[in-house]
Amino acid sequence: MRTLIISDIHANITALEAVLADAGTVDATWCLGDLVGYGPDPNECVERIAALPNLQCILGNHDAAALKHIEVDSFNPEARTAILWTQQRLNTTNLAFLQSLPERIEMELITLVHGSPRQPVWEYLLDTRTATLNFDFFDTLYCFVGHTHLPVMYYLPDDTVYARLVVPENETQLTLAPRAILNPGSVGQPRDRDPRAAYAIVDMDQNTWECHRVAYDIVSVQARMEKAKLPERHIQRLSAGW
Ligand code: ZN
Repeated sequence: MRTLIISDIHANITALEAVLADAGTVDATWCLGDLVGYGPDPNECVERIAALPNLQCILGNHDAAALKHIEVDSFNPEARTAILWTQQRLNTTNLAFLQSLPERIEMELITLVHGSPRQPVWEYLLDTRTATLNFDFFDTLYCFVGHTHLPVMYYLPDDTVYARLVVPENETQLTLAPRAILNPGSVGQPRDRDPRAAYAIVDMDQNTWECHRVAYDIVSVQARMEKAKLPERHIQRLSAGW
């Protein structure tokens, strides 16, 4: 069973369409949150994702902020501008979809969260120490996360209680061995200096996790952001992938 893993779409429909086309036929899609925020296409992204077959989808911190579940003051000034812009644009159907999203989904082998199993919406897994502590907060073999916009795997080797970090090369396939925390990277706002949209394909029959990147028309997204008067720094960062 091929499952598409996407995260941090951030209202970038051009990147999302490129990923869906590049991934081809899949049996299911699991989305790890932050469908909106930063980008110019919040309604288009929520509608496209909500309509995907066999979807599992998690609430991200920007989705929670769009729903006014989180104070906008907890974001930096530019992110706040984008959140307020997003709040004004999301239609009631799409708000209801975001409202329906859980913070955590636990399946037989895999837990899905946006940030970390310890703090599903907010915590960033940016180092092995934090990752190590988080292995105590889920019971499944694997946990899939987003939030940092960086494609990585943390795993617990048999001989140690300390997690190790793997930063996979693009277009490589990792063999999954319990236990591990994996991040597919970001569709709509990559932050690893590679501006291409990131996603993963997981196959739990083969125990594989494939890391993929796909180029998309960044200039057209930037033009829509300019027109919407979204913050200049968010426009610029898309070309550099930071
Ligand atoms: Zn995000």
